[in-house]
Amino acid sequence: MIAKPAFDLVFRNAVTRSSAVPVDIGVADGRIAAIAPQLACEAVEVDLGGRLALPGFVDTHIHLDKACLLGRCGHDHASVADAIRAVAAMKRDFTIEDVYARGAKVIERAITAGTTRMRTHVEIDPRIALRGFEAIKALKRDYAWALDLSLCVFPQEGLTNDPGTDELLVAALNDGAGAIGGCPYVDSDPNAQIARIFDLAQQFDIDVDLHLDFDLDPSWWHMEEVCRQTERRNYHGRVTIGHATKLSALPPERLKAAAARLAAAGVAVTVLPATDLYLMGREATHNAPRGLTAAHRLVADGVLCSVATNNVQNPFTPFGDASLLRMANLYANVAHAGLGEFDTCLDLVTELPARLMNLRDYGIAVGNPADIVVLDTDSGTNAIAELPDVLLGFKRGRKTFERQRPKLFRP
Ligand SMILES: [Zn+2]
Repeated sequence: MIAKPAFDLVFRNAVTRSSAVPVDIGVADGRIAAIAPQLACEAVEVDLGGRLALPGFVDTHIHLDKACLLGRCGHDHASVADAIRAVAAMKRDFTIEDVYARGAKVIERAITAGTTRMRTHVEIDPRIALRGFEAIKALKRDYAWALDLSLCVFPQEGLTNDPGTDELLVAALNDGAGAIGGCPYVDSDPNAQIARIFDLAQQFDIDVDLHLDFDLDPSWWHMEEVCRQTERRNYHGRVTIGHATKLSALPPERLKAAAARLAAAGVAVTVLPATDLYLMGREATHNAPRGLTAAHRLVADGVLCSVATNNVQNPFTPFGDASLLRMANLYANVAHAGLGEFDTCLDLVTELPARLMNLRDYGIAVGNPADIVVLDTDSGTNAIAELPDVLLGFKRGRKTFERQRPKLFRP
């Protein structure tokens, strides 16, 4: 007699991105132990009824420390500089408790929207010092049961022009920050900032994730310098640029050339639809450019890309629910993605950002953590088209949330 495998939990009738027919997923000790049709076992069962199981959404770029600020600033912010100024004025008063409470609100929305991995940018400068960093470290610890949080520290107000920032950044890196970001376009010496960020990244052996090229003027950009530094330091596959809205202003042949440059250097691009759509194209009185870089086209040309949340309800973006499925749907709609490209649009908030963050244990595969999120639909294409409810989430085999399907009460 053959002993039945010992699973703690089995998902029945799951559709996955890689299997056309529903499969069962067996879980043991928090990890995926088997994937096959009709697994014979006596474990606790969760019947997905042919619904789509994903390994969770991956948000590579969000700002938990400055989320949910709308009630505190009374005017509209129509430019990137206005938004930066508004938050700079408020953040001197941020306390650890305040950042924690606002961040927790967003993390809980993200968890119930199906996000299982996240990289948050954390502002470091003499105004906020390390208070934001301390609060986000506490969030990382307190929500580890549902979400893996990585901290990317960065100088939002500039680095070479802002005395005291460098020392604080080094202190945060010594205290376990997982990546380093930057914002060269606010620095009085952008190339010096880029060089210093790469120095620190190499010193601490961490990845780089910069805010870059955030306007619609393609006559100059910092992208070339970032590609050059990436190659010089052998950092292929470890560098990302966020926004890169200048790329949306390029005609097709120049966009092809830029894509080839990024792909060759191994520099990834993160598109941030909510913020890019809100802040770009404001000068136009009509036929406004939307400033959204076509990530799915860059992917077709070999560039690693992600679509991410960025800001939630603050001067940069007065919207937000931290749902990456909604963001991918918004992206697909605005970027003129066709039905045949919807699968790539789902990749932009799942597989591709996992690669961008160099996550080695992501995906529904034997041996990986049993991170499973269930959508009320039957395919990746329909996930983008229908914007289905996210019904269930599991982190390392433990249920983290559940959403009831709506019920109709017919007369
Ligand atoms: Zn950002």
